This record gives sequence, structure tokens and C-alpha cells, in this order.
Amino acid sequence: MKLLEQVTFDLGNRFTDRIQKEGTSSCSALWMIFQDTKLLVYKDTMLPCQTSGLSLQHSVYMGIFQNLDVFVGEIGHHETIPQEAMWSDLKALYGKIDEAFLALAGRASQLILWEKTHQYCGQCGEKTIDRPNERAKECPSCKLLSFPKISPVVMALVQKDDEILLARGPQFPKGFYSVIAGFVDPGESLESCVRREVFEEVGIEVEDIKYLTSQPWPFPSSLMIGFTCKWKSGEIRIDPLEIEDARWFKKDNLPIIPEHISISRALIDSIFPTH
Ligand SMILES: [Zn+2]
Repeated sequence: MKLLEQVTFDLGNRFTDRIQKEGTSSCSALWMIFQDTKLLVYKDTMLPCQTSGLSLQHSVYMGIFQNLDVFVGEIGHHETIPQEAMWSDLKALYGKIDEAFLALAGRASQLILWEKTHQYCGQCGEKTIDRPNERAKECPSCKLLSFPKISPVVMALVQKDDEILLARGPQFPKGFYSVIAGFVDPGESLESCVRREVFEEVGIEVEDIKYLTSQPWPFPSSLMIGFTCKWKSGEIRIDPLEIEDARWFKKDNLPIIPEHISISRALIDSIFPTH
């Protein structure tokens, strides 16, 4: 399916996850340097800036990407960066660098965030240690294990005959609409989440829920899971706390919709192909 090629941040099979660097490895190294959520890139190519001499506050070995040992590091705000480098949001790199690098940077940003926020046990406060054979931190005192956090979010495109339901939040740019989205609650199935979110936000019951695709979304640590579904009953009744407007749109009457980077666009394109 061509539309899935538009979805980024998926590393596919070009990357091998490793917990520890092998001592005999002759790979060259590739570093991803972050400051909060921004990646250090070269101003001209926008590729990850490779530089030595920076003082890292945290670092993680990620694995092997095309014969390169990949590391991610975080530096403090007082560090001076090379003149040829700049900080960039990951979203700003879309379309400017190889998608594999973008996917790698997305993974790196999530791992370094986990690394710096799990230095101490959330249960007893002891300093954690890295598990030797898995991506996990262990408390030596109470044995609590912590794994990199992923927050699942469902994206739901509702279809009714030749129309689709799109909604806008008050924070959206003028004229911009997207699909219904929401975080999965603890103990909830993805399908139940689709039904709940659509009903809560626009007052409509849906059926025929079908999974389409997923996409890692490292802002900061979500996994977007896209579904299409069909209108079952109800009129649009928006939740004013979350939704400013929601409407049915035909193919020739679409508002401003998300860019190809997003899974919501892939969902819309699956009903109204534009290619
Ligand atoms: Zn503990």
C-alpha cells in the first residue's frame, strides 16, 4: 500500500537493537545529541552533528544501524555547540533527511528521555542500575523494574456513506481539521478506546472498527494506532472541553487536513485517495 510509505518514524529492518556494545565491534559510531527534545544537526545537511568534546549528562548505546554503532547523548544548556551546528525539532527534519535517520532520531529521543527520567527508583528512591541483557532499569533495593515507556493513542476516522467525520480542537490552526484521537486508558482494549473516544468527543456510536496502521510518534513517547470505523447511530454533539467543531466532509469539500507525515492523513487517504 503506497499510503503506508508516507508514515515515518518506523525503523523497519535497518536497525538492530543492542543493549551493550560488543567489545570487538569495529563499527564506526553515530551519535545523536539531544538537549531536551531538540537534536543537534548540521545547519547545511540537517543530519545529526558528529562532534567530540561535549560533556554528556546522560548517554545510551542503542544498537547497530547500517554498520554504525549508534549512541544517543544529552548535553546541558551551558554547553557550547559547534558553529556549523544547530538545534532542531524532529518534526522540522521531516522531508529534509533520510526517513531512516528520522526514525532513528525518534527512537533516540525516547530512549534518552527514559534514561534521564529513570535514574532513581519510583518506588523507594534508590539509584537504579541497567539490566545487562534487556532494555530495563532495576532497583537494587526493592527490585522494581522499569522499561521504556510507550503511551498508546488511538486515531479514529469515522465514515458515513460518502462522508468522513473530522474535528478540530481549539488549539488547531484556523480551518484545520483532523481525525478523533485519544490516549488508551489502563485496562482498555484499542477497540473500546475507539468507541469511547468517538462517543465522548462527538457523541456518535461507531461499529465495524478496523485497524489500518500504526506509527511511532516520539513527541515524547506515543504510539499512534490508526483505525477506520463506520457510523452506527447518533448526531454530532461535541464535547466543548476538547472539541471546537466537528463535521461530516465529502471528498470534494475537505478542509485543511494533516500533512503526509501523520497517521491521521494516512487514515483520510485510505478513504479518499489523493494519489
Ligand atoms: Zn526501589
